Amino acid sequence: MNLSDPLELLPRTKSITVNKFKLLELHTFEDLLNYIPSRYEDYTLKSTIDKVQEGEIVTIKGRVVEAKNIYTRNRLKIQKATIEDETGKIEITWYNQPYLVQLLKPGVLLSVAGEVKRFLNTYTIQPAEYEILKTDDQPTIHTGRIVPIYPEKKGLSTKTIREKMRYALQSLETNVENIEWLPLDIQNFNTLMDEIEAYRQIHFPDTKERAQKARNRLAFDELFTIQLSNAIIKKEWEDEKVGSSLQIEKYQKEIDVFINNLPFSLTNAQKKVVDDIFKDLTKQTPMNRFIQGDVGSGKTVVAAIAAYIAHLNGFQTLYMAPTEILAQQHYSTVAKLFKNQLVTIGLQTGAQKSIKIDSKTDETGYFDIVIGTHALLNESLKLDKVGLVIIDEQHRFGVKQRSMLKKKGFNPHLLTMTATPIPRTVALTLYGELDLSVIDEMPAGRLPIKTWVIPQIKRDKAYTWIKEQIRQHKTQVFVVCPLIEESEIETMKSVKAVKVEYENLKEKIFKDWRVGLLHGKLKPIEKSKVMNAFKDKQFDILVATSVVEVGIDVPNATIMIIEGAERYGLAQLHQLRGRVGRSDKQSYCMLFTASEESNQRLQYFAKTNSGMQLAEFDLKLRGSGDIYGVRQHGYADLKVASFSDFELITKSKNSVKYFMSKYSLDQFPQIKEKVDTYGRLEIGRD
Ligand code: ADP
Ligand code: MG
Repeated sequence: MNLSDPLELLPRTKSITVNKFKLLELHTFEDLLNYIPSRYEDYTLKSTIDKVQEGEIVTIKGRVVEAKNIYTRNRLKIQKATIEDETGKIEITWYNQPYLVQLLKPGVLLSVAGEVKRFLNTYTIQPAEYEILKTDDQPTIHTGRIVPIYPEKKGLSTKTIREKMRYALQSLETNVENIEWLPLDIQNFNTLMDEIEAYRQIHFPDTKERAQKARNRLAFDELFTIQLSNAIIKKEWEDEKVGSSLQIEKYQKEIDVFINNLPFSLTNAQKKVVDDIFKDLTKQTPMNRFIQGDVGSGKTVVAAIAAYIAHLNGFQTLYMAPTEILAQQHYSTVAKLFKNQLVTIGLQTGAQKSIKIDSKTDETGYFDIVIGTHALLNESLKLDKVGLVIIDEQHRFGVKQRSMLKKKGFNPHLLTMTATPIPRTVALTLYGELDLSVIDEMPAGRLPIKTWVIPQIKRDKAYTWIKEQIRQHKTQVFVVCPLIEESEIETMKSVKAVKVEYENLKEKIFKDWRVGLLHGKLKPIEKSKVMNAFKDKQFDILVATSVVEVGIDVPNATIMIIEGAERYGLAQLHQLRGRVGRSDKQSYCMLFTASEESNQRLQYFAKTNSGMQLAEFDLKLRGSGDIYGVRQHGYADLKVASFSDFELITKSKNSVKYFMSKYSLDQFPQIKEKVDTYGRLEIGRD
């Protein structure tokens, strides 16, 4: 057995469960073991039945005396079981799980964890978890210990995940001799827990301290892998030559004309980044530049200028966006920027095969700029002169994309762009292979977006005010419906919720206005139809799920309503708010919340307009020593590690340096595999 074995080999597991894991992108034992708990419940306190005390969270163990279903008048099904140990009896009650009674035959040994409740003089346990044991000394997994709680998605319950995790660990322990992949000196120097012990302790910790140590080890693994991959890329990169270096001076006049003819003048921050890019493009080594700029800071035009230079030099540009909607939007933006130029632009997404804009395109299907999703690279487009690749809204460079291009014989310049606010120090440490430019200034004339937290009682007043705004200013409004936990069933729920809200707004509240609907289950082509209609001002109000989160640009929309705002993370709220405030008109963001009590997070958000400040506040709120819930929420996609953990970031960086100077990758096939896998995961998720 191997860590990379497929989950089909997991003992006592039906293929339907394996398929659910696959939907979560968990294919191998290693994938599964890296699906880490979001938190733990502590059921370590064990008690005999006679010693239970009201309010305690305990685990008790005993044999079933009897179990029966009780049907109440309001059709509730209650399951009552009496459990007995050598000290006494206690009654346990479940609701609506009638099948339980089949399992709880008299004599069955049961372990139950939950809170002790008292009714008059009898105690009962409200079971949070239970498990049937075959023998008295059988180790428990759901009770009597610190129990892991996993994010529940795609119909997989925490209990199922926990069970399967146990099987995976057991197979590992009985079949694999050594899964340690780090050189021993690196492990020792950083006092890291052994790899297999880390997997054991992250899932079924003996103590919270052990869980923390385990997390530390797995976080180190993650950071080490990222940084090693980057260091290797950087090393290769430095030895490389571009296909042809580009000329800037020769085309200075054309470039100046282009920039002067833009509908606005560039901000100083944009000019600075354009300068950085100019310097890179004339070098013999390929550019590898990473632009970070808050939502609305104007990254697209910077990308367009770079593409123009490639074109002037006779090269093609590939412009990749993370979603189809964004690709279409970039297409129309870029087409507009180049409307007075002899530049041909193609769009290629799953939904739309390359479209030609006007007669400038020649018959051969050659485009100067090809815009699309990552699927772009697999298509049979004519890409024989790619000099520049632009990747939008992604904060890491896809190793795979680059190697695919290299296979086609190019060695292009690369520009990646993101709105994700990663503190500069962290970005430099973690993504040190990239040259970083920051657009830290908004276009002139932008008014800060006014943000208000709106409790239930002020809702009607808010609607009246909004109608007045639409009437007076012909403005447009986004209404984003509450976020519902992400899962198949939940996606359907949120689609349902958005449809209900849409009907409500359309038929009642805004019945005199034109209301549109956008959600994730629409076909890409329908999505873009709705988006375009909204852009063309055919709707006053667009009701949407959080699909409008990334990158959408509708400058005439100045009001953003976020329903159930308390459910969103700050990063997401900031992304959503960034959909307005894209012109010189005053924009507004209204956070509708159901909860009456004032929410510290939302209040802070209302008075803070900088994404970076919000990111830092978020890190602080969550705290760095916090072993529970350190997963990132939208600011970046670290799985185990946290950006606030500077110490571990530094440690792993030093270890990567040490590794690079002392070892070669060929000596460590397991490390090589990890680095390769990491590269594969970097392809965009569409
Ligand atoms: P992002 O950085 O979030 O990708 P965009 O590139 O979509 O931002 O730009 C946001 C909006 O700002 C667009 O409507 C764009 O035309 C406009 N814009 C970009 N640069 C400037 C500028 N220097 N002055 C005024 N408006 C600008
Ligand atoms: Mg953008």
